[in-house]
Amino acid sequence: MPDCIFCKIIKGEIPCNKIYEDKDTLAFLDINPVNPGHVLVIPKEHYKLMHDVPDETLSKVFIKSKDLMTTIKKATKADYVAVSIVGLDVPHFHVHLVPRYFNDGMAAFWPTKKYNEGEAEKLAIKIKSLLK
Ligand SMILES: [Zn+2]
Repeated sequence: MPDCIFCKIIKGEIPCNKIYEDKDTLAFLDINPVNPGHVLVIPKEHYKLMHDVPDETLSKVFIKSKDLMTTIKKATKADYVAVSIVGLDVPHFHVHLVPRYFNDGMAAFWPTKKYNEGEAEKLAIKIKSLLK
């Protein structure tokens, strides 16, 4: 994808602080970290959303993410490393690995809502009925 910032990083047209690279995946520091040590893990092929990524490639991205979490936790002395798949902030599928601290003041990644009476049950039934 010519206009994709992550594809440009993969091609070396835009610099990054690279953490890891193999033939299928690339991991680098997010330039706007939630906390220092915030890493993005991406497939080297361009896919917009998680459900676009072939299973084999997706497996490689997540297995590498799991591996990197341990190292990031050690390097940053974080209490844990949160995993987030946000969506369209950059339209090239990516996994956020975010070092978190029990006292970092971020209660949650996003605000939550409440279901109306009976709404959750109905939605669960609808989603289950559409499973392949
Ligand atoms: Zn891309």
